[in-house]
Amino acid sequence: MKLNVYNTLSRKKEVFEPLHAPNVGLYVCGPTVYGDGHLGHARPAITFDILFRYLTHLGYKVRYVRNITDVGHLEHDADDGEDKIAKKARLDQLEPMEVVQHYLLRYHKAMEKLNVLPPSIEPHASGHIIEQIEFVKKILEAGYAYESEGSVYFDVEKYNKDYNYGKLSGRNIDELLETTRELDGQSEKRRSADFALWKKAAPEHIMHWPSPWSEGFPGWHLECSAMGTKYLGDTFDIHGGGMDLMFPHHEAEIAQSCAALGHESVKYWMHNNMITINGQKMGKSLGNFITLDQFFEGNHPLLTQPFAPMTIRFFILQAHYRSTVDFSSEALVASEKGLARLMEAYERLQKLQASAETTVEVAGLRERCEEAMCDDLNTPIVISHLFEASKAINTVADGKGTISEADLAELKEVFKLFIEDILGLQTESGSGSNEAYKKAIDLLLEMRLEAKRNKDWATSDKIRNELTALGFNIKDTKDGFEWSL
Ligand code: ZN
Repeated sequence: MKLNVYNTLSRKKEVFEPLHAPNVGLYVCGPTVYGDGHLGHARPAITFDILFRYLTHLGYKVRYVRNITDVGHLEHDADDGEDKIAKKARLDQLEPMEVVQHYLLRYHKAMEKLNVLPPSIEPHASGHIIEQIEFVKKILEAGYAYESEGSVYFDVEKYNKDYNYGKLSGRNIDELLETTRELDGQSEKRRSADFALWKKAAPEHIMHWPSPWSEGFPGWHLECSAMGTKYLGDTFDIHGGGMDLMFPHHEAEIAQSCAALGHESVKYWMHNNMITINGQKMGKSLGNFITLDQFFEGNHPLLTQPFAPMTIRFFILQAHYRSTVDFSSEALVASEKGLARLMEAYERLQKLQASAETTVEVAGLRERCEEAMCDDLNTPIVISHLFEASKAINTVADGKGTISEADLAELKEVFKLFIEDILGLQTESGSGSNEAYKKAIDLLLEMRLEAKRNKDWATSDKIRNELTALGFNIKDTKDGFEWSL
C-alpha cells in the first residue's frame, strides 16, 4: 500500500515518492506569534502532526520544520502598516522579543495539550535575517526584483513572463496585473501586485536590521523560502499550511525560490481547509474569535461548557483535512460523546479474556485503517473503522461473543497504533505514559503485600515510607490497597 497525497500544485492525488528516501523534508508555515492561539492555529498543527506521525510510522526519517513568524507580518497583510509584534511591543512598552516569547510559550502549551508533537526544528524569522538578505541578493542578481527608496520589491510581471505566477492558487495573473497597473505616484512599487522582499524601516519602527539597501526588515513571504531551503535543501518533499496561505504567501514563496534558484523547491504542496464557527468565518469583529484556552475553560459566550483538548483534536480529525470544519457547541458535545465511547471500548479491550475462537468481526482492521490513511490521510474513515471494531469489543465484553488469543493481541496492537500513535488521542486521565505510571505504583504495592505476607517487614515498611515521602496516600483495605497522590 502506498501513501497518496493531494498535491495542490497538480490538483490531484499523487503517490508519495520521497526525493531522498528514507529521509523526508516537511516544511509547514507556523504561527505568527502576536495573538493568543485560536482554532485557526489548531487545525494546521493537528493536520500536519498527523502527516508527521504517519510518515514516521511508514518508516521515513522526517525532518519537520515549522517556522515562527516573529517579524515582517504587517497589519494589513500587505506591504503597509506597522509590524504586528512591533506595534504590540510599542503599546505595552516591551521588547518585541518579550511579546514573541509570551505568545510562543502559550502556543507551545496549547499544542502540548492538543498532543501535537514538536517539530524537529522551529526556526524564528528574526534569527535568519542574514539568510533572508542573501536570498534577496540572489533574486536581484537574477533580475526579478528592483530596489526603490531603500526597499526591494519582487517584480511580478517580469517573473510571470518567464514562469507562471499563479500556478498554485490558480489566480489569473494577467487580469491581476491589468487591473493593478495604475498606481498613484506615492507608491514605491511599480505595480501593486509586486511584493516586498525588504522594507526600509520607518523611524518609529523598532525592529530593524542593517542591509545593503537600508536599515529595515524582510518581507513576510521571504522567511519561508530562506528557512525552508536552509534546513531542507534546494528541493524538498512537502510544504504545508492553511488554505488561506495559498495566495499570496505560498505563491510568493514559489516565485522567490524559482527566481533565486532557477527551479521550484517543493514537490508536494498540501493545504488544510478552514474552520468556521456556527457557519461563519472566524474574526475578532464577528465576536466569534475563540481562543484555545477559552475552549479548554469554557470561557466564551458561544460555548455551553469547557471542552477538553482531546475533544477538540478528535473533532478536527472527524473531518478530512481538506473539508471545512464548522465548530459549534452542539457538534463538540457530540464529539465528546463519540470520543468517550471509543476510549471506553479501548479500555474494555485491555480487560478482554481470550477464547478458543473468534465469533466477532475483527479481521482486516489494520489493513482497512492503513488503506484510509494512505488515501490522503482520511482520518474520518479510520475513526469509523475503529468504531466498527468497538462494537465487536463490546460484544465480547458483554459475553455475547468470543475472540481468540491471536485476534485479541492483534486488536490491541491496532488500537494502540491508530488511537495513540497515529491519531494521537489520549485518555482524559492522561497519556499512555500515565497508564504506565499507575501500573508501576500498583506493582510496587503488590510487592509490598507480598513482603507483608512473608513477614518481611523491612521491605514492606520501606516501600510504604518512601512512597509516603513522595506524597502518596496509601490505604490498606480488606482486599489489598488503595492509593492516591
Ligand atoms: Zn510560510
